[in-house]
Amino acid sequence: MKKIDRRTFTKLAGAAGVAFSLPAGAGVALGKSPRVVVIGGGFGGATAAKYLRRFDAGIDVTLIEPSKAFVTCPFSNTVIGGLNTMARITHSYDGLRAHGVTIVHDRATGIDAAKKSVSLANGGDVGYDRLIVSPGIGFRWGAIEGYDAATSQTMAHAWQAGPQTVLLQQQLAAMPDGGVFIISPPVNPFRCPPGPGERISLVANYFKQHKPRAKILVLDPKEKFSKQGLFKEGWAALYGDMIEYRNASNDGTVVRVDAANMTLHTDFEQHKGDVINFIPPQQAGEIAQLAGLANDSGWCPVDQQTFESSMHPNIHVIGDASIASPMPKSGFSASNQAKAVAAAVANLLKGEAPGTPKFVNTCYSLVAPDYGISVAMVYDFADGKIVKVKGSGGLSPSGASAEFHKKEANFARGWYDSIAQDIWG
Ligand SMILES: Cc1cc2nc3c(=O)[nH]c(=O)nc-3n(C[C@H](O)[C@H](O)[C@H](O)COP(=O)(O)OP(=O)(O)OC[C@H]3O[C@@H](n4cnc5c(N)ncnc54)[C@H](O)[C@@H]3O)c2cc1C
Repeated sequence: MKKIDRRTFTKLAGAAGVAFSLPAGAGVALGKSPRVVVIGGGFGGATAAKYLRRFDAGIDVTLIEPSKAFVTCPFSNTVIGGLNTMARITHSYDGLRAHGVTIVHDRATGIDAAKKSVSLANGGDVGYDRLIVSPGIGFRWGAIEGYDAATSQTMAHAWQAGPQTVLLQQQLAAMPDGGVFIISPPVNPFRCPPGPGERISLVANYFKQHKPRAKILVLDPKEKFSKQGLFKEGWAALYGDMIEYRNASNDGTVVRVDAANMTLHTDFEQHKGDVINFIPPQQAGEIAQLAGLANDSGWCPVDQQTFESSMHPNIHVIGDASIASPMPKSGFSASNQAKAVAAAVANLLKGEAPGTPKFVNTCYSLVAPDYGISVAMVYDFADGKIVKVKGSGGLSPSGASAEFHKKEANFARGWYDSIAQDIWG
């Protein structure tokens, strides 16, 4: 892939909002504050709520989110690897309140698309003119024999940050030196394609410091994984033979989980681990399934210009839950989509055209605290769909110097702090 130069990237990234033209259309009745309800206060939903208020302070924005504070998956691998505490990845909603967003700490249990209202777990409902849904992922419990919600309490997935992050970190801390840690990533598509590679790396970094005789076995049901060449280069340089990676062709597909015996079964073998991180197959979050926003794939089809659902009008689905391919399911993608959709919704509510979006995504991964790698891409909207901008983006070069990787690790920390401030600050 061609590496983008910084100037071109900055120019394209700057354009990654939306450009608008303003013809007439059906908006909200004059004199009435338009109401937008947002479900989910994560990367997509919190960004959408804040930017709606920034684009048009006349919009009445209500965010429905059960948690009092948001714990990010990005940088949760640094907590699992003992480099950071949970406080580092936990963000309050006070910043959003300061922007005039009304926050309802509750769970949305249903959406009535005809009545334009959202029902809440604690009773009552909230009406909307337009609804933005960003519930993240749900798991396909039972898709792999023996792995369900109950099993995840012993074999953590840690693919939603919070108690699962703490569980996996504590299990690794309690593991004996010389023990075996098994990680099994899911099939595509799933949240954060480079996430398993980063997790393997930061657990290896932890073992190198604290349990140097420990081993890591990766059982991957795919042939290859995101940034594979760069990760493997880093593993060889930093972790010697600590990591054994098996792909689909090398009997890496787990077909059965035996949690009672801490064992994973593949077609031909069984593997016992001291700690097992099993990341199950995924789909759009439960509310998207309940509301009929997902299709047979389990994900939500949308008009890729406005992210309006192909299943129900006036409902926009963003972030991991949406089918936004070729964009990856990342926090950066979700937040970027949210800004474009907030602008589109603000325009649509005024009876104006939504405009043509552009998007960017960068995913940094830490192979070690001072060893970063990245992948970036710029996206355009053309012929009714999101397309990669030719010649943009790219991967960190292979064979880069230690100094280069140190800089990328610093960029990763800078990226985290700036996106967290942008969303929840
Ligand atoms: C280990 C790991 C590392 C990662 N690292 C990176 C990274 O470095 N960079 C990056 O860009 N991305 C990264 N990601 C991916 C990133 O976390 C997701 O892509 C991002 O969180 C998606 O945003 P979202 O808004 O779709 O979902 P989320 O951020 O998960 O937000 C969903 C929110 O919806 C709420 N919700 C769900 N259902 C309901 C309901 N019924 N009612 C009300 N609220 C509801 C949830 O409580 C949650 O707060 C990583 C992921 C993992 C697992």
